Amino acid sequence: MLSEFSLISRYFTRAPSADSGVDLGVGDDCALLAPAPGMQLAISSDMLVEGRHFFPDADARLLGHKSLAVNLSDLAAMGAKPVGFTLALALPALDESWLAEYSAGLLALADEHGCQLIGGDTTKGPLTLCITVFGHVPPGLALRRDQAREGDDIWISGTLGEARLALAGYRKECSLSDADLAAAGLRMHAPTPRIALGLALRGIAHAAIDISDGLVGDLGHILQRSGVGATVNVDAVPAGPVLRTQASAIRRNYTMAGGDDYELCFTAPPAARSAVNAAARRAECEVTRVGAIEAMPGLRLTDHSGKPLSLQVRSFDHFSTP
Ligand code: ADP
Ligand code: MG
Repeated sequence: MLSEFSLISRYFTRAPSADSGVDLGVGDDCALLAPAPGMQLAISSDMLVEGRHFFPDADARLLGHKSLAVNLSDLAAMGAKPVGFTLALALPALDESWLAEYSAGLLALADEHGCQLIGGDTTKGPLTLCITVFGHVPPGLALRRDQAREGDDIWISGTLGEARLALAGYRKECSLSDADLAAAGLRMHAPTPRIALGLALRGIAHAAIDISDGLVGDLGHILQRSGVGATVNVDAVPAGPVLRTQASAIRRNYTMAGGDDYELCFTAPPAARSAVNAAARRAECEVTRVGAIEAMPGLRLTDHSGKPLSLQVRSFDHFSTP
């Protein structure tokens, strides 16, 4: 039977790579990081709990990817460059095939972003995956939520709503072909953290957030923290290819208040439009302008003709969403 320590060394320990800023990784009481001179450290944690954030039969390799992706998404939204992460794991049982798949998915995404696993904690308990990521950002260049200004454009990366569409498909709330459900399901299970875009937007975007709980709610955080309001053209918000084939009420609801999108919502002055487009090309990521920041508080939604829309949408909240 594998012990706690041989589990850690078999699945979660690799030698730190040279010049990574990690002087000591897994294996001691603490990891030792050598912060890059003059950089601020960006730090964020996200936890995934079985039955709450993923289905009990979730694919372990995809879960490895997703548990790190949702954390990297926070670094992306801050314009920070990934350095390392810690992993706190509660496991119901010692299942080696699950561990092999989970760590393969996790470490493949970590390698893609040069983000090293530097430590963690392992215990027995209901399956819970808690990751803390560390990144670097030059002082003054972090993309904060409180920097949106009147007149800014509001931009969205990629497309929204298909993770929510997949959830509706799994719950049989709507009928999707197997191929469509598989395509939408990939958006739910394997989100792409927009790290390259976040880095490219340093010094261009004023404010940014990653969309994890739905655009209405997450843009709402920018508005509230920045003391401004906004108008968004709901029909300009890009829906994924499968969602685009659905009725407009579903498309509007899932793009505005879907959840699990992990795209970036950011603001930038109109004078920076060509710089934003150039940054998006460098990052190989589509961006779409969907609205504008205004002085009047509150979020106003319109259709493509500018007519006010009253969508009954709200963002996800663990303690008030049924
Ligand atoms: P301590 O008793 O000091 O908390 P542990 O016995 O929990 O140390 O962990 C031993 C080493 O293994 C530490 O370096 C810790 O950071 C690392 N570690 C524990 N669990 C994990 C994990 N799931 N992933 C990566 N490193 C881990
Ligand atoms: Mg410990």
